[in-house]
Amino acid sequence: MGHSLKFRMTRVPTFRFPEARAVVLERIRAFRATPRTEMAGLLDAAGRVLMEEVRADRDQPPLPRSMRDGFAVRAADLPGSLRLVGEVRAGSAFPGEVRAGEAVEIMTGAAVPRGADQIVMVEHTVREGDNVTTDKPGKPGEFINPAASECRAGDVIVPAGTHMDFVHVAALALAGATQARVYRRPRVAILSTGDEVVPVEQCPTEVQVRNSNAWALAAQVRQAGGEPVILPSVADNEEATRRAIEMGLAHDLLLLSGGVSAGKYDFVEPALAALGAEFYFDRVLIQPGQPLVFGRARDRFFFGLPGNPSSTMATFELFGRAAVQLLAGANEAPLPLLSGRLVREFRHKPGLTRFLPARLAGDGVTVELVPWAGSSDIAAMARANAWLVAGDDREHYAAGDWIQVIPR
Ligand code: AMP
Ligand code: MG
Repeated sequence: MGHSLKFRMTRVPTFRFPEARAVVLERIRAFRATPRTEMAGLLDAAGRVLMEEVRADRDQPPLPRSMRDGFAVRAADLPGSLRLVGEVRAGSAFPGEVRAGEAVEIMTGAAVPRGADQIVMVEHTVREGDNVTTDKPGKPGEFINPAASECRAGDVIVPAGTHMDFVHVAALALAGATQARVYRRPRVAILSTGDEVVPVEQCPTEVQVRNSNAWALAAQVRQAGGEPVILPSVADNEEATRRAIEMGLAHDLLLLSGGVSAGKYDFVEPALAALGAEFYFDRVLIQPGQPLVFGRARDRFFFGLPGNPSSTMATFELFGRAAVQLLAGANEAPLPLLSGRLVREFRHKPGLTRFLPARLAGDGVTVELVPWAGSSDIAAMARANAWLVAGDDREHYAAGDWIQVIPR
């Protein structure tokens, strides 16, 4: 691949995948600025990062609640035959009390009447007129959610810095919050480099390529919680690259595509260096994406993502996504890893962690490599729905072996 010939501006270490990712997380946590905030309604809260913790406005549940349809009884009376003295349904309260030898018919979610300390499921009873019989033994507390067993008034139910999903939306709604204070989305500049790169609206000649990277990255940035800003692409010229990078560094994060390999016309690193950039790494032992660059210039972070489409997309998922999440104010930026079982055996050359297009089957477990023509093969990536992660210390995987998978 000739990466040993890569033009390296500064002496920076070469990392394996986990170390490189740790460097990204650690640097961004150490130097990120606190984003400004705005309000988001419930419909827009998923995908946003919460600035101000949300607290429960009352005990949950406020009263002991039944977890089943059945009968509210005294455990001390069981097993046995009980007299039915009334009914309580969700949304109402039983006015009286359950006394010895008595039962009250109850629905899921209804408040447990005073005196009762157990719910017997309707399936475990026989009813004859006003009489209910069960052979269930007494078990105080069974199928009752005690008052405040889920949370107490004032408890934090969604901590600040949470990158919210639909469950957090439910928690906001539970607390009666119709909106939440969230961080503004970081503005992420996307700058493509390459003499051959033309806008998607333009018909490329046979030696040109449409700028698919800018649009893939824009979609990825959005998914990560950032606001993409696509800059005009720049030719392979050091001076022009430097000027474009200066514009990019006016945003919260700069993503560059292309121009970081060992080619004669790769000017991204020299241009960054001319702007006084600090490089945290400019090579990672992964494929695709080995020439990946990460650093900081003018108080902003940047990634130099290799231009081959699969490299650009994979390196963003592996490193850029976490960066965007942290810059968005999130506390954590986990990498979603699953395990899958290989349909067929495969081998690769150890030394690099490989991220290969793969298809996770409908069973959610079986995984298969998608044949591809290499890092430029967008069509193969489009047939895949995941990356299979081949360890840098392992050459052979047998059919049926478990292997790490990153779903998309
Ligand atoms: P580079 O990393 O600049 O050496 O680019 C590697 C290859 O990726 C190029 O030869 C192009 O075929 C392809 N490429 C570069 N930039 C883009 C882009 N913005 N969109 C699609 N493909 C690209
Ligand atoms: Mg290039």
